[in-house]
Amino acid sequence: MQPAEKGENIPFAVPDITTAEVSAVGEAVRSGWITSGGVMREFEKDFATFVGSQVQAVAVNSATAGLHLSLEALGIGPNDEVIVPTWTFTATAEVVRYLGATPVLADVDAQTLNLDPGSVAELTTERTRAVVPVHFAGLPVDLVELRNVVGAGIKIVEDAAHAIPARGSSGLVGNCRIADAAVFSFYATKPITAGEGGMITTRSPHLADRTRVMRLHGIDRDAFNRYQSPRPAWDYDVVAPGFKYNLGDVAAAMGRVQLTRACEMQLRRQAIAEYYLEELKDLPLRLPATGEPDALHAWHLFVIRLTDHSPLNRDEFISALSSQGIGTSVHFKPLHEHSFWRDYAPNASQHLPVACEESHRAVSLPIFSAMSEEQVERVAAMVRQVLS
Ligand SMILES: *Cc1c(COP(=O)(O)O)cnc(C)c1O
Repeated sequence: MQPAEKGENIPFAVPDITTAEVSAVGEAVRSGWITSGGVMREFEKDFATFVGSQVQAVAVNSATAGLHLSLEALGIGPNDEVIVPTWTFTATAEVVRYLGATPVLADVDAQTLNLDPGSVAELTTERTRAVVPVHFAGLPVDLVELRNVVGAGIKIVEDAAHAIPARGSSGLVGNCRIADAAVFSFYATKPITAGEGGMITTRSPHLADRTRVMRLHGIDRDAFNRYQSPRPAWDYDVVAPGFKYNLGDVAAAMGRVQLTRACEMQLRRQAIAEYYLEELKDLPLRLPATGEPDALHAWHLFVIRLTDHSPLNRDEFISALSSQGIGTSVHFKPLHEHSFWRDYAPNASQHLPVACEESHRAVSLPIFSAMSEEQVERVAAMVRQVLS
């Protein structure tokens, strides 16, 4: 094997934006209505159609906002416990604190890095009101199994920030056949992006109505309806102390186009994943789980874990790739290793053995749909070179 040439820098992630997104955004800007309005509504309709029948979609300005509103609508509050994986981004747990409830950090499965149902069972108490599984890297959590473990009384809100499109044991992520709600992210690096943005999906009319009211100050009708309604625009009613979480039409215009390209972009990420899986299989690392044969993995991330046979530790590996101009990242430094969350997992080594063991091994390689063939080949070749 020839050592790869040092070429131009390969960033960790780049959004995949075409002229279609640019013209849709231009059109929205020129329309004269740039906050939440008709385009946002169309985006919600398209999104609901995409994930499945019987689903309503509620657009928000981030997944963090969507998780907050979903748990609020389910009535989570002080004295309640919400189980979240420790292997996630801080947003999954912080929203539980917004509501004055207590996040309980659970361990993940060593193969999938998704929430471990055994750990959930162990940590469930009479105060547990909800669980927030994360479809880590875009690999669907087995929600049928999770529902069996928690029973009917505990709410399930999916953190689907990585998971569009993704399909697991209960169909497309977001169809809410099992969960009470699912929440997607359109942050800059996510599988589809609007710059910033998020979407809640649910089959519950209560959850849809409540989150629609609470995303805009607790006003009973949003700004767009106000200007369409026969009642004068000033005549609105505030029914709760809501939030400012609405998604504007400029961002929605971009998200709408990205949604039409979601499957095409997933196919590209899957091809990159398949190439890495083949090229990296003999190295001193563990490859990511690929899921059941009939699953659809969104491949938002490609997370490898260095084994004890690796000549470099994780941090050295990241530096070695960086010096070759290759960007990587870490998903995630588990919550219990952060100073704020440490107190929420007092016996981490006992309750979170997998996360403790794996956290210093994980590295995310670049995997984005705009990646060229040459870039993919160079990443694989450099990984090979630094580990040989
Ligand atoms: C990105 C991310 C979020 C937050 O998404 P935002 O849209 O930036 O609020 C939540 N959970 C996970 C697992 C994420 O990766």
